[in-house]
Amino acid sequence: MCGVFGIFGDDRAASLTQLGLYSLQHRGQESWGMVSVSPEGVARATRAMGLISEASTRNAPLDARLAIGHTRYSTAGSSTIENAQPILARSRDGHIALGHNGNLTNATELRRELEDQGSIFSSTIDSEVMVHRIAKAADGAPETRLASALAPVEGAYSLVAIIGDTLLAARDPRGWRPLVMGSVNGAIVFASETCALDIVNATAIREVERGEIIAVDANGIRSIFPFERKPSARCVFEYVYFARPDSRVFGGSVDRARRALGRQLARECPAPSADLVFAVPDSSNSAALGYAEESHIPYELALIRNHYVGRTFIQPEQAGRDAKVKVKYNAVREVLQGKRVVMVDDSIVRGTTTRGLVAMVRGAGATEVHMRVSSPPVTGPCYYGIDTPNREHLIAANYTVDEIAEHIGVDSLGYLSLDGMLNAVPDGPEGFCHACFSGDYPTAPPTDPDKLRFGCGC
Ligand code: AMP
Repeated sequence: MCGVFGIFGDDRAASLTQLGLYSLQHRGQESWGMVSVSPEGVARATRAMGLISEASTRNAPLDARLAIGHTRYSTAGSSTIENAQPILARSRDGHIALGHNGNLTNATELRRELEDQGSIFSSTIDSEVMVHRIAKAADGAPETRLASALAPVEGAYSLVAIIGDTLLAARDPRGWRPLVMGSVNGAIVFASETCALDIVNATAIREVERGEIIAVDANGIRSIFPFERKPSARCVFEYVYFARPDSRVFGGSVDRARRALGRQLARECPAPSADLVFAVPDSSNSAALGYAEESHIPYELALIRNHYVGRTFIQPEQAGRDAKVKVKYNAVREVLQGKRVVMVDDSIVRGTTTRGLVAMVRGAGATEVHMRVSSPPVTGPCYYGIDTPNREHLIAANYTVDEIAEHIGVDSLGYLSLDGMLNAVPDGPEGFCHACFSGDYPTAPPTDPDKLRFGCGC
């Protein structure tokens, strides 16, 4: 899970990148980074653990017309500064920088091949293999070098890169992760989501197409499609949970998608006896609104989320999972007391947060709790860039819906169907990856998923 940003052609490139990263913070909160190139052609990297808002002035980047940035979230084991991005390397032909969103499924094989040829790696992230491959790629235009570096790479990448004085953006041939191109005052901007264009006053031009590489430099904008075109596999979970509702991803509005998911959920899984509907904030706010609109049940704010709590603030081993839920959420007793309620969430993964929330809602006086989920049961891990646990920790991979209802302590539990979800999202139902719900993986899963997860780029 990561966010990427890149800009060419504005003297404020570094500060605009920093701003863009604020809007991509939800895509990764463990570390952030920027690489900017000064007018003299000097590249400098700034990387730090934590949030972009915690950036200190000593991290102040150079004046630059060219910069890329990255926000990163990964599994715990690989949360180190060495794995922060963008990566900056210096080869005999100059600097190469790269920021990557997605997971490569053959990174281990590619890395072994490079190590056999004498490469030494400085991180455990899959993304570094792409940098090594660019460095080894024969001379030529930057986009051609990137194309030849990416040719054997499999899996998901929406990336921004700098080779010399050229900004590059690339999306894998299946297009799992979003990437959009915009412009501001003649400068070209790339970002994972349009909310990062809005913050720098850029206007969206179009999506980077799947399988496309775009190069931007003093010679203009060039686009190539060097790879064999594959069936589209846009990640449906971007609409369900991951992207911000004020963004457009894959050309569609996340807010509209979530409301449609909520409306469809209300049609498929009504709760006619309920007095009110509320969301598990924030990612399910729009879906709960859709559910309330469709069912004509009042929408209430029954759970309040503490916005000053980051994902890594309290670890389970420090204070236990219940404490973790309580630090993040609290119930509004005045809303819940004596009420039969519909609690809408976008997904249940492990079931631990949900179980804690249901207990909290009952503790605040709710008499019936009907849980509605605006996606199908998550039954498989993601190998393409969303941080989901292994199958043994996925509650829906191991228990039936009735068993889950009992475990989380609800009076009823309803999930959106796969077809309902795929028909509700913009430009559905075809062309989406829904492997985590359906088991229908667009590529063969990696041979060593644990290793991949430990060293994942996102
Ligand atoms: P749990 O009950 O522990 O499975 O947690 C469910 C909550 O996790 C829901 O509110 C989801 O919005 C949220 N969620 C879904 N996917 C992820 C993810 N990949 N990382 C972190 N939280 C997630």
